[in-house]
Amino acid sequence: VQRTLALIKPDAMQDHREEILEEIRGGGFSVSRLKEEVLSREAAEELYRDHRDQPFFGPLVDFMCGGPCLVLVLTKENAVEEWRAMMGPADPTDARETAPGTLRARFSSDILHNSVHGSSSEQHATDQIHLLFGDVSSD
Ligand code: ATP
Ligand code: MG
Repeated sequence: VQRTLALIKPDAMQDHREEILEEIRGGGFSVSRLKEEVLSREAAEELYRDHRDQPFFGPLVDFMCGGPCLVLVLTKENAVEEWRAMMGPADPTDARETAPGTLRARFSSDILHNSVHGSSSEQHATDQIHLLFGDVSSD
């Protein structure tokens, strides 16, 4: 089995948190870690380090630490890819056209405020789990 780091982003915490958690469990993921947290600026910058040269980096970091997130470690066979498939494309306009059943198609308002995060590779998952939960090797 594989692990991935998932976030329910601040825009979805108020209205869609329970529905997203139901989808996660219904999709066959095990939730092995879960915490509600306002990300530090440092953590948000590290999480999105690959985007640091993008024009949306500042707004992205502001958004991500502007309210509580739900931080989760999800476990499942092929978890990285399966969770990204459940999220759908980053831009909800695109998601509503090409992947209407996905979380972003259903719950997101725009490409910045897009409800959920998922690590994009196994290495990123390992790094991001370590960033947000520290050492989980005994799990
Ligand atoms: P995430 O990394 O959050 O799981 P993703 O891998 O689908 O999403 P990335 O390309 O890694 O998408 O972009 C990271 C995040 O940056 C997006 O989820 C979105 O919140 C934000 N973002 C991406 N592109 C834009 C853009 N053009 N304008 C504003 N925000 C953007
Ligand atoms: Mg990404």
